[in-house]
Amino acid sequence: MPTKGATEPVILAAADLDALLEALRAEGYRVVGPTVRDGAIVYADLPAASALPAGWTDKQAPGSYRLERREDDAVFGYAVGPHSWKQELLPPRVRLWQTRRQQNGSLEIEEEPPAAVPTAFVGVRPCELAAIAIQDRVFLGGAFVDRDYAARRADVFLVAVDCGDPSSLCFCTSVGGGPAATGDFDLALTELLEGEHRFLVRTGSPAGELLLAKLPVTPASPADLDAAGAVVAGAADEMKGRFDSTGLHDLLLRNLESPQWDEVAERCLTCGNCTLVCPTCFCTHVEDASSLDGTTAERSRVWDTCFSLQYAEMHGGNTRPTPRARYRQWLTHKLATWEDQFGTYGCVGCGRCIAWCPVGIDIREEVRAIRAGEEEHAHA
Ligand code: SF4
Ligand code: SF4
Repeated sequence: MPTKGATEPVILAAADLDALLEALRAEGYRVVGPTVRDGAIVYADLPAASALPAGWTDKQAPGSYRLERREDDAVFGYAVGPHSWKQELLPPRVRLWQTRRQQNGSLEIEEEPPAAVPTAFVGVRPCELAAIAIQDRVFLGGAFVDRDYAARRADVFLVAVDCGDPSSLCFCTSVGGGPAATGDFDLALTELLEGEHRFLVRTGSPAGELLLAKLPVTPASPADLDAAGAVVAGAADEMKGRFDSTGLHDLLLRNLESPQWDEVAERCLTCGNCTLVCPTCFCTHVEDASSLDGTTAERSRVWDTCFSLQYAEMHGGNTRPTPRARYRQWLTHKLATWEDQFGTYGCVGCGRCIAWCPVGIDIREEVRAIRAGEEEHAHA
């Protein structure tokens, strides 16, 4: 059974999900959560619970994502879509400052005020909690705190949802995670479909407890707790053995010259899709733009990718001039050197990079091939 807060777990009827959204709004939060748009489940402002993807699920495979109707009305009966909470905490483009030339020729520089709209994230998967924790470490945990990220992160209310229906690409259990929400959340829901459609609700913070006090909940019965335990146990079971992460760090660093890097480079388009959909990738660059008459200019921070040729361009040349070098950098950073840098994998096993890779490159298969190549070599 997942961890619980100070308050005992309670039950919220599915019909009362609007009460949760209303309570969040009454506390001053902008409410963002999953909804169906353009054939995918994406994150957007939620006007009401009716905007949630009830009755939809996602079928995923390497290079493929499509929505299908479920046979029930599950609201969170899907895995993850192309969006992640990165778009809220580290938006694709953030203006850093703008400047205006004054009449006397001097420049007035105006720093962009930090964005600080209290926002509730509804439907945060356990892998996404892990991804947020990873980005927190990057942007808040070092010597330099990122001002914009800190402002956006400060007033976030996290409504997590345990996973009951992982996609065929999910492998969180192999990289230190699992289908039950743990760690940093305010409220965590487990959707129960057997019998009356309802949610087991756990609290994870004082803010969560305060909010829960405003909801029409009833005490959870032992049967409810068992049902919730079965949901996450079933999901964990489904993901068992999907990815062998034994000795991953050293395996990858021992195999920097594996022929597999050449093989994957033949297929990789270096489009960067994998890094854009990845909830942990955080590389950015800055762009300057000025008006044609030269009176105003601005600098923005924009998502970048280690798959772009320009990203490794520096004085004296390019450190990763080939697709082989760029793919190897991405994968070894995710699963090996990230650990040296931040103490965890840079991957939470969400499977997005596999589904949204236009040629269906599967990070798990690449590691498998490298491992197999090494074993073959040892037995030769
Ligand atoms: S692995 Fe796939 S998504 Fe990533 S850069 Fe290569 S082709 Fe694009
Ligand atoms: S590397 Fe792929 S599976 Fe891992 S967190 Fe990023 S998108 Fe998800």
